[in-house]
Amino acid sequence: MSFSTLGLAPSLLNAITEIGYQEPTAIQSAAIPAILRGEDVLGAAQTGSGKTAAFALPLLQSLLDKRGSHRQLHGLILVPTRELASQVADAIRLLVSHLPTTLKVQVVFGGVSINPQMLALRGGTDILVATPGRLLDLIDHNAVKISQTAMLVLDEADRLLDMGFSEELNRILELLPKQRQNLFFSATFPSAVQKLADSLLNKPTRIEV
Ligand code: AMP
Repeated sequence: MSFSTLGLAPSLLNAITEIGYQEPTAIQSAAIPAILRGEDVLGAAQTGSGKTAAFALPLLQSLLDKRGSHRQLHGLILVPTRELASQVADAIRLLVSHLPTTLKVQVVFGGVSINPQMLALRGGTDILVATPGRLLDLIDHNAVKISQTAMLVLDEADRLLDMGFSEELNRILELLPKQRQNLFFSATFPSAVQKLADSLLNKPTRIEV
């Protein structure tokens, strides 16, 4: 399998080559074409599977395709911890640094002062990686709006629920536009996680790796 058969734009294929990825991982081969078709995806995948690029590449492609209204939050990635937030943002920024277009990727998480995050969000962002509680604080401070978000990613959904973010997730879901694409990744599927997936996803393509 080669990246070039997945439907990715030349600028993204070029970025992948420059970064040095030679072939897609299993989850990338399965998820990228489905996401590019606009489908919701339910991915059973562990860290290390390459799931970050599996959702980041199609997310970046949809931003490259979108002309004009940049800096209106297009892709929101919710993660359970600050470590994962930083890791995911770094991986997306690496891809963006190899693209001809400038796209803004911001990361916010709790446990640190909110002010620098509010400043960083001034002028808008294309992609936001966030932990749920801090995202709601920033929304309450009018520092970010999620009403135009076209793509929602829940990364490590099982850990999001384990960490008690269920109420925050529900509030965030109510603020998102109804018309959007949802990508849901989890290592495990206990009933609470499956229930969340069922309520969130619209006829998802299921991928297990
Ligand atoms: P993730 O599961 O997204 O945390 O990715 C795990 C690691 O695999 C990261 O260090 C990525 O940079 C790397 N990676 C992702 N996709 C590929 C690929 N297609 N080929 C080689 N390495 C990759």
